[in-house]
Amino acid sequence: MKVLICDPIAPSAVEHIRKSGIEVDVRDTITADELLQVVPAYDALVVRSRTKVRRSVIEAASNLKVIVRGGVGLDNIDVDCARARGIRVLNTPGASTASVAELTLGYIFALARPIVQATLSMRAGAWEKRAFEGIEVQGKTLGIIGTGRIGTVVAMRAAVLGMIVLGYNRRTIGPAPYMAMVSLDELLARSDFISLHVPLTESTRHMINAETIAKMKDGVRIINCARGGVVDEDALYEAIVAGKVAGAALDVFEEEPPTNRKLFELPQVIGSPHIGASTHEAAARVGDEVARILIALQQEGR
Ligand code: NAD
Repeated sequence: MKVLICDPIAPSAVEHIRKSGIEVDVRDTITADELLQVVPAYDALVVRSRTKVRRSVIEAASNLKVIVRGGVGLDNIDVDCARARGIRVLNTPGASTASVAELTLGYIFALARPIVQATLSMRAGAWEKRAFEGIEVQGKTLGIIGTGRIGTVVAMRAAVLGMIVLGYNRRTIGPAPYMAMVSLDELLARSDFISLHVPLTESTRHMINAETIAKMKDGVRIINCARGGVVDEDALYEAIVAGKVAGAALDVFEEEPPTNRKLFELPQVIGSPHIGASTHEAAARVGDEVARILIALQQEGR
């Protein structure tokens, strides 16, 4: 089996894959054009979120049998096109759950207490004690949209902080001990913080828009560590400028890097360059899981 690793994977995992006799090329800065050129030579591609495996790549990939996505979302892969051609698409769904949940909690605190803005102010030499009064999170209501792996961990940890946790899922889920499952409208109306943990699909694209924001509490704070397209960035901008939304924390954007820069000119907006899964521990878990998948596939093929 010949594998092309297109995005950074833990070196120890690459070593582990090589030791099992699999031929591995690591080109973790490969461009879209270069990928099109070289892809016919490979049986397997490993990607994280940077590399896009669109129809053109899949059509050029005459020997490809599997695409392994180190991470959760498959929105950077044309899954239907791959599967129609008999190419398996596998991911490592649980490997980054704790990391994304912890970033989300960091953002809940950073929206409650203006840690980022105060740091910038102090770096500029100021001592603006009064400008940075915050709110407590205990006793506040957190609404979690998408109560899967990450949403459930956020709920559990937020409940321990003394938050009242509401959850919304489009399908009925089993017992949710740390949160009360409610309708979307009820969640929007009652939450002081709203955190998104849904995949990007036709049903979630722009689910946070002018209409849903209008149903939220005044002064709501919004966290998006899921996928950029879930939030209509123009609607969010307008709502912050109008004073409806008190703050937003964004790890993901409609376009990455974001072209819609006006959001970041607002002092109420904090964010990061899609680093939800970027921890030492998640990288190791993703690498181990990718290695396990590839080694199992190789053994299957023997
Ligand atoms: P998951 O599949 O376990 O959970 C997603 C949940 O959303 C499911 O329970 C599903 O039923 C629910 N859902 C789907 N459509 C819905 C809708 N229209 N309304 C309400 N609920 C809906 O996934 P997960 O592992 O918890 O990951 C959640 C999100 O986090 C994904 O979008 C993933 O891409 C994103 N993520 C981001 C990063 C990052 O770096 N920021 C890293 C990993 C995952």
